[in-house]
Amino acid sequence: MAAIDTLCPGCDARLCLEAGGPVPVCPGCHQPFPAQAPPPARQTVISGCTVCGGEAFYLQKDFNQNLGCLIFIVGAVLAPFTYYLSLLVGLALDLLLYLVLPYAALCYTCRSIYRGYPRNPEHTAYDPNTAWIHRPKDGPWARGGSSSVPPEAGEPQSPQT
Ligand SMILES: [Zn+2]
Ligand SMILES: [Zn+2]
Repeated sequence: MAAIDTLCPGCDARLCLEAGGPVPVCPGCHQPFPAQAPPPARQTVISGCTVCGGEAFYLQKDFNQNLGCLIFIVGAVLAPFTYYLSLLVGLALDLLLYLVLPYAALCYTCRSIYRGYPRNPEHTAYDPNTAWIHRPKDGPWARGGSSSVPPEAGEPQSPQT
């Protein structure tokens, strides 16, 4: 099922927009969300963000980091009892999960996660320079300190005078 995982620009609540679903309403501020997930089509790839209008995306394995950590911890805890075989099994499980999981496309600007859409061949892995170019400059996505753009990736931000 194609869906977009995004944050409400008004209140930062997490929203899941399902393709073909009803008009989404934000669970935080109870406002109808202004964007809807486009229906997935075999010929249609994601080229523009329906949430913020951004045009740059990067690909990321849709991998649940917490699950990966959990598998590793369980393997480590069981290690003394299994002659450390559980560590190997955990590693193999992590690797397998990683290999079978599909790619998700993430918008550089608003960090919306597009799942279940055909992969756009123009999309590549995360690039800090592209992230800097397409960082949210204004609008609701500009605020918030969760941006992981390294400052050395572009012109330095001038201090407030
Ligand atoms: Zn909201
Ligand atoms: Zn976007």
